[in-house]
Amino acid sequence: MNKSGKKTGKEEKNRSKPSLNFIENIIEDDLKTNKYESKVHTRFPPEPNGYLHIGHAKSICLNFGLGLKYKGKTNLRFDDTNPIKEEIEYIDSILEDVRWLGFDWVGEPRYASDYFNQLYEWAVKIIKKGKAYVDDQTAAEIAKQKGTPTKPGQESLYRNRRSVEENLDLFERMKNGVFEEGSKVLRAKIDMASPNMHLRDPLMYRILKKPHHRTGDKWCIYPMYDWAHGQSDFIEGITHSLCTLEFEVHRPLYDWFLDQIVEGDYRPVQTEFARLNLSYTIMSKRKLLELVEEGHVNGWDDPRMPTISGLRRRGYTPESIRNFADKIGVAKRDNVIDVDLLEHLVREDLNKKAQRVMAVLRPLKVTLTNYPEDKIEEVETINNPEDESMGTRKLPFSRELYIEHADFMETPPNKFFRLAPGREVRLKSAYIIKCEDYVKDEKTGEILEVFCTYDPETKSGPGAGRKVKGTLHWVSAQRAINAEVRLYDRLFNHPDPAGQKNQNSNEFLNPNSLEILSNCKVEPSLKMAKPLGKFQFQRQGYFCVDPDSTTEKLIFNRTVPLRDTWAKIKDRP
Ligand code: ATP
Ligand code: MG
Repeated sequence: MNKSGKKTGKEEKNRSKPSLNFIENIIEDDLKTNKYESKVHTRFPPEPNGYLHIGHAKSICLNFGLGLKYKGKTNLRFDDTNPIKEEIEYIDSILEDVRWLGFDWVGEPRYASDYFNQLYEWAVKIIKKGKAYVDDQTAAEIAKQKGTPTKPGQESLYRNRRSVEENLDLFERMKNGVFEEGSKVLRAKIDMASPNMHLRDPLMYRILKKPHHRTGDKWCIYPMYDWAHGQSDFIEGITHSLCTLEFEVHRPLYDWFLDQIVEGDYRPVQTEFARLNLSYTIMSKRKLLELVEEGHVNGWDDPRMPTISGLRRRGYTPESIRNFADKIGVAKRDNVIDVDLLEHLVREDLNKKAQRVMAVLRPLKVTLTNYPEDKIEEVETINNPEDESMGTRKLPFSRELYIEHADFMETPPNKFFRLAPGREVRLKSAYIIKCEDYVKDEKTGEILEVFCTYDPETKSGPGAGRKVKGTLHWVSAQRAINAEVRLYDRLFNHPDPAGQKNQNSNEFLNPNSLEILSNCKVEPSLKMAKPLGKFQFQRQGYFCVDPDSTTEKLIFNRTVPLRDTWAKIKDRP
């Protein structure tokens, strides 16, 4: 700023150019120094052992986003080194979810298992250098020798005893299936006294006599994550290998393995960023699988799940999730993002896109005693006041209607601007009505029906008559169609369900996370709604047609109610 407090031209310029995050800074430096011949090549490397969740969405948007921004490439690579937990179903869901988010990988999807031959050859090379050995100890024995971060580990008896020839022979026989599972492993010979535990002779291969979904029975030794990952990056020509912070301590090992195999100038570099943590949400695939297997939810795509497929079924749009990734940005420090922000962003997106419709969730019958019995007229209503190009449509209006049960009170407080004995309200896009009488169940006190008169001079639109304080949504009882509406609340009622000592996150499951309303009445146009079609139910929130919905049985999921807690916090002085 200059002395008069005005922004200088330079400051203005900086302000209009969004600042770079630390990964973009690294990339731009690499581009300047021509480190990778001006190329940017990233990858998203999921392990196919579960469905993707919103945390993965952050990584997808980051990796694919950088590929797009720097006119580079992004691979999708399945890290399928563990044949036990991986399933085709997961692979298919991952392909679908990445595409649905709006991204495309370069070429075919890659699989770490495609590199098993190359990895094996490289392992042989490392043994030949005297930098890897076969260890016959059990996993428990190896674990015992690991030491602690402050106490050096102990060298295995097999570390220096075996010749290169013996190691090569044993490793080959491991590959040929001669030995039992768990009887031998291949370890890198690095440093049992290293302060970095990952460098204390880490495992490279273990014996697993399990078929693999892609390589079948070909292999009975499988590479460990650390051994497969960096080499896969190298094979694919990845320049910037981005992963979450917990892998920072693996980086020296990532580099050590590359040191053993790289011959030219090129090598990928690993950079870590903070993972996404979301309040009221758990994100580990293992825990999510448990929710599915124990029946706490109805599958991976249950609308209460933080999975991408769950969010899709709940009514989230890809744009809202991409905006979310954008807003939270990338940083080097872990933090927790408020789930209200995600909900705010889907509201913001749907507000522009979703057609407003009439749906009554808990119907109360209203009869207009002065309206002709057989008459059905059409009233015109606007599809979305945020976007006039979305046009208008016609709604049937009749003598018998439904309004929301909560919109009538027998003895209302002062500030209740809805319907009550003797009071008037407007029916949205139609007339003003006045409550003349009502019937109630004497035993339960429940209101059964309300009788009103309508004022024919008050149809809304041009020439609409008087104004009243309250406007209600409604549907024609004769023409409305039945629907089931599923209301969702948070799956957990603790802000940090996974972070509580000595308590399993399932102890915080919200018993009221799903409420099913099976007697809803919705306007007839919704009969044509397509699966995943998105609507704003007037005064109720955003809703989405469930994929199981049929013309015989319409089912809607509530994405979010209208009340926006995030926006409120933001607007606070
Ligand atoms: P989880 O711990 O949830 O089971 P994971 O890290 O084991 O997940 P992977 O399939 O290995 O899952 O992850 C694929 C990519 O997604 C990795 O690069 C990982 O760093 C990234 N990722 C996973 N969880 C998050 C998260 N919460 N925030 C950001 N990135 C994530
Ligand atoms: Mg993992």
